[in-house]
Amino acid sequence: MSVLLTVLAALIATGASAYHRSSLRTWAIATIVTTLAVGVLARAPITTVILLMIEVLIAVPLLNLAFRRKQISAPLLKVFAKVTPKLSDTEQTALEAGTVGFEGELFSGKPDWHELLKQPRPELSVEEKAFLDGPVEQLCGMLDDWQITHELADLPPEVWDFIKKHKFFGMIIPKQYGGLGFSALAHSAVLQKLASMSATAASTVAVPNSLGPAELLLHYGSDEQKNYYLPRLALGEEIPCFALTGPYAGSDATSIPDYGVVCKQVVDGVETLGMRLNFDKRYITLAPVATVVGLAFRLYDPDHLLGDKDDLGITLALLPRSTPGLEIGRRHFPLNVPFQNGPVRGKDVFAPMSTLIGGPHMAGHGWRMLVECLSVGRAISLPSNATGGVRMAVAGTGAYARMRKQFGLAVARFEGVEEALARIGGLTYATAALSRATAAAVDRGEKPAVPSAIAKYHATEWGRAVAGDAMDVHGGKAVQLGPKNYAGRAWQGVPIAITVEGANIMTRSLMIFGQGAIRCHPYVLKEMQALSIEDYSERLKAFDRALFGHLGFGVSNAVRSLALGITGARIGDSAGDAYVRRYYRKLNRYSSALALCADTFMGVLGGKLKFKEKLSARLGDVLSYLYIASAMLKRYEDTGRPEADRPLLAWAFHECMWRTQMALDGAIRNFPVRPVSWLLRALVFPFGRREVPPSDRLGRRVAAIITAPGEARDRLLEWAYLTPTSNNTVGRMNELLPDVIAAEPVERKFLKAQKAGQFKSHDYLGQLDEAMRSGVIDSSEAALLRRVREGVFEFISVDDFDPAELQSAVTRKHAKKLADAA
Ligand SMILES: Cc1cc2nc3c(=O)[nH]c(=O)nc-3n(C[C@H](O)[C@H](O)[C@H](O)COP(=O)(O)OP(=O)(O)OC[C@H]3O[C@@H](n4cnc5c(N)ncnc54)[C@H](O)[C@@H]3O)c2cc1C
Repeated sequence: MSVLLTVLAALIATGASAYHRSSLRTWAIATIVTTLAVGVLARAPITTVILLMIEVLIAVPLLNLAFRRKQISAPLLKVFAKVTPKLSDTEQTALEAGTVGFEGELFSGKPDWHELLKQPRPELSVEEKAFLDGPVEQLCGMLDDWQITHELADLPPEVWDFIKKHKFFGMIIPKQYGGLGFSALAHSAVLQKLASMSATAASTVAVPNSLGPAELLLHYGSDEQKNYYLPRLALGEEIPCFALTGPYAGSDATSIPDYGVVCKQVVDGVETLGMRLNFDKRYITLAPVATVVGLAFRLYDPDHLLGDKDDLGITLALLPRSTPGLEIGRRHFPLNVPFQNGPVRGKDVFAPMSTLIGGPHMAGHGWRMLVECLSVGRAISLPSNATGGVRMAVAGTGAYARMRKQFGLAVARFEGVEEALARIGGLTYATAALSRATAAAVDRGEKPAVPSAIAKYHATEWGRAVAGDAMDVHGGKAVQLGPKNYAGRAWQGVPIAITVEGANIMTRSLMIFGQGAIRCHPYVLKEMQALSIEDYSERLKAFDRALFGHLGFGVSNAVRSLALGITGARIGDSAGDAYVRRYYRKLNRYSSALALCADTFMGVLGGKLKFKEKLSARLGDVLSYLYIASAMLKRYEDTGRPEADRPLLAWAFHECMWRTQMALDGAIRNFPVRPVSWLLRALVFPFGRREVPPSDRLGRRVAAIITAPGEARDRLLEWAYLTPTSNNTVGRMNELLPDVIAAEPVERKFLKAQKAGQFKSHDYLGQLDEAMRSGVIDSSEAALLRRVREGVFEFISVDDFDPAELQSAVTRKHAKKLADAA
């Protein structure tokens, strides 16, 4: 017994030191003192001596830096240098681009919640609010999505003019160049509001404000280029597009075959240094109407007119539309969401060197320029458009499910529909918090490479899930296209968001964890960077520091995973109020588990992990859910911990934790080295999988929130356009919703009388009269039912068309020809 007690005490001291991430010295002192004290008290002299010898044998070499470096780190450095895969220039560039924010804490296994909660609450300025309430509100009032998507296949000219005049294309351009100089949050809010009305308008506005000529010029343009282009771009006098993708280079954008050769040509009688360009680009947004084309191509200099390199690499230029040989103007037709999109081609197009963004010295730096700027645009455009869409799905589906009656009940009351409504509400809460978090990161000056990939992927995937649920709840109403259908086009356009700015399968499989693991890991990048230090003794020192930090980190995460797993995350650091304290502890648990698995996977598989996309995708999911859950907790704090939001927060949080568990379990279960998989299982899930999806009861509370006006619903609908204008069916439905709810108890009385056979009339209005006359309901109640019946009829109606209206202009012409001939 005394032996057991002494061994246990030594183990607990070691475990506690590892759990709290104590230094080696602290661990050694704590363990030796504990062993000695318990050993003496328990009277176990032999065990105490053996344990002390083991502890000293471990502690002394590790604490003796000179010995440790020479005998342990130096040989390991050699092995590490051999096995570490050489990063390609592309990978190196991707890793170096961007900054690490709170996601780094999540990867640490021991997040410092104070770091999250001390971040300033993101807010719009007075000017930004005025823009949302002024020009954005006005623009939304001008958008008739059916006209745009079916009749014109374009925005109407007055909308184009309004967008340009009010500088919607210049949100990211600083005021000094005539732009709006908006914060990322404002930029996001504008896109959300537009997306709630028209995906075509939102995409049109998003593109010039995302990665493209303006962003690139701001960072790399020469003064001359900035002074010329930026004011013109801000005012919409120039319409930009950015052409990277082509038939042979989609996701693998670095493989573009488009090229330029440095040469001289006489232009207007003057010999001019420039490039002869050949390119074939497709899918380029705004290209058909662009006046200036940002072009990515590989630049070669065989005659060494610029320097001694033959292949300079990917290079970016701005070509005016008038450039001779530039073929532009034809259109693609992306899934009936007809924002301008089309191919751009050129054969032997001559462009002077002055067209290079930043000038000739930036030749060959194109990939770095793109990757460095990518995260900012990616953090805003797609996440905001998706968020605007899901907010509108809450407004539309929540109201419709309360209005649409079947089997004598609002369909929202059926449990099957309630399940879909709960997903719509919960995922919208999560998506909105995620979008806000990434916009806030940009406003703090971060270049959120990993969060922007998380936001792009999850906001659009959840947009897809919500759009699907919204369609299902609406039934035939959302299937029949026409001016009355406010859900169909949003659902149709989902795959566009999934594909652009990093197609989702690749973003999930390759980018989130691939970048996150190395970028956010507190030691891996340091170990890799140590390899490139020239001076050997400095290299060894840096490697030793990183290596032993890493080892301690690994041990700590194993201990923390086990301890938090055994206790069901009931211990440890926390934050927030009593309602969410447990949530923070759950995040601590899975953060440790993620760090442990990531380390083990990287350690055992090394460079091969890159090709194990199914594993890395699952670990990326874990990082994503932890990030999204943190974003929701921050939002809860920022909004003053509103009690009304708790069902939404709880639903979304449990969903994230359940998904986290399933992703971790899937990654561990499928890890190819079985003993490692068993060990990880024991450490991460000591009592098996205990997380459960949100309960049915919670789902019912969420569904109740989104189907009735209230403060939580209002927050969920922030920045959605709900003004009940003639072009906004959802706005008008929401205006009627309070009446629909007020009518429900009256309807119950009416239906009871109807079921009891009290009415002789066969039609509703006749029965209503009878109900009033017989005192079942009073006259004001009858008026309410009549008003609601009429209002609801408008919203459950669908469109029908004269067959000719559905024919394209070409078909109509053809049909007329046939008729004339007959
Ligand atoms: C409407 C629209 C607008 C666009 N606007 C622009 C624009 O303005 N400018 C511009 O330059 N480009 C634009 N694009 C191009 C867009 O960025 C590409 O479509 C995207 O990069 C994917 O390329 P791809 O379509 O050729 O798919 P592919 O690259 O052929 O991919 C096919 C599938 O394979 C997956 N995949 C590919 N590689 C991997 C991998 N390593 N691991 C796992 N999965 C992988 C992808 O996720 C995808 O699911 C636009 C595209 C669309 C549809």
